[in-house]
Amino acid sequence: MTVATTTTNKVLDTVATKANNGEAETKSSLRFDTLAIHAGQKPDPHTGAVIPALSLSTTYKQSAVGVHNGFEYSRSGNPNRDDFEEAIAALEKGQYALAFSSGSATTATIVSMLPMGSHIVSVNDVYGGTYRYFTKVAPTSGVKATFVDLHDPNNLQAAMQDNTRLVWVETPTNPTLRLVDIQAIAEIAHANGALLVVDNTFLSPYFQSPLELGADIVLHSCTKYINGHSDVVMGVAAMKDTQVYEKLKFLQNSIGAIPAPFDCFMAHRGLKTLHLRMRQHEVNALAVARFLESSPLVDDVIYPGLPSHPQHELAQRQQRGFGGMVSFRIRGDLETADRFLQSVRLFTLAESLGGVESLCELPALMTHGSVSAEDRAALGITDNLIRLSVGVEDTQDLVEDVDQALNRAVLKPLDN
Ligand SMILES: *Cc1c(COP(=O)(O)O)cnc(C)c1O
Repeated sequence: MTVATTTTNKVLDTVATKANNGEAETKSSLRFDTLAIHAGQKPDPHTGAVIPALSLSTTYKQSAVGVHNGFEYSRSGNPNRDDFEEAIAALEKGQYALAFSSGSATTATIVSMLPMGSHIVSVNDVYGGTYRYFTKVAPTSGVKATFVDLHDPNNLQAAMQDNTRLVWVETPTNPTLRLVDIQAIAEIAHANGALLVVDNTFLSPYFQSPLELGADIVLHSCTKYINGHSDVVMGVAAMKDTQVYEKLKFLQNSIGAIPAPFDCFMAHRGLKTLHLRMRQHEVNALAVARFLESSPLVDDVIYPGLPSHPQHELAQRQQRGFGGMVSFRIRGDLETADRFLQSVRLFTLAESLGGVESLCELPALMTHGSVSAEDRAALGITDNLIRLSVGVEDTQDLVEDVDQALNRAVLKPLDN
């Protein structure tokens, strides 16, 4: 299947692992920025096209029964999907990756690895869709979850049951950006015979490598930073272990929640600038967070890159950067927050995150509107909490936009 045509390609052949033939290959010494562009992206051996063509065919010719070039039927394997998976495996420092039609489909497929009667321990402020799946869908196949404050890893041991097969973590969490110590959690999970899944959507592989910290499966909603341009819904899981890979690969094909070739093509294109985007997301997020922290119109700012973040030390230890998400509590109430969200000019009021354009939202009524008022209070999701997905626009333009919107929201109610 792999045709190395140049010396460069021979070097790159050892870059990532071959997700499809299960060979564990030499770890590449190439660095992130190079891998983002070259892993899984060899020129087409037949045409020389630098960017491999979109492969829309659903089926592939066999020269004799069972003899083919690695592809039979596009649900089971597709060249654009393979390329994308190879790139993610390299960037997540895994051996393998498997792509799915959404982050949620990735979650569902991982959970379907579990036998009837299994138990999951999940971080309590897990992504809303994951919470919904764990509480409303997983129980129909005999899988139950309990939700635990894992920001203190000492809480995990007491929550482990004989049938606990998975520990599910997100870090930083949404929208209060609390961190979980992946290494500490991995040790306890493994001592109890459970696998650790880390949802790495918020930081991307550029800023955090959960597999190196002991996680067994890393998961992404590619819809966010990986694709990065708010025009693809897709998910991916990466892992090192061959048995875990084979099980998930079987389920990827059996359940069939696979991404379209075009989405793989788009997400792979987005992935090539992940490092550039993440650097600018972070520069901008830090500038906005510092500005907010200096403002008398703001009660508090939550950003792991600020020394005021209660887990700033853990962020410095387990992450290579702090990401593009900033949350803050505006001085005032829900109406003040709403006025801020109506006053911003560059930030768009919308759900989702991780795109090049800046977005803002009110978790209490939008992304976390289905969480009960009681749980919202327990999680710190107050009515004046605003979440920003800071994009890659000009830093000063974003700071000035936040400044003017704060003034309009807090000082003078909109009278238009
Ligand atoms: C968006 C998101 C998901 C779900 O991904 P979809 O692609 O929307 O299905 C899972 N986890 C986190 C942290 C997310 O932000």
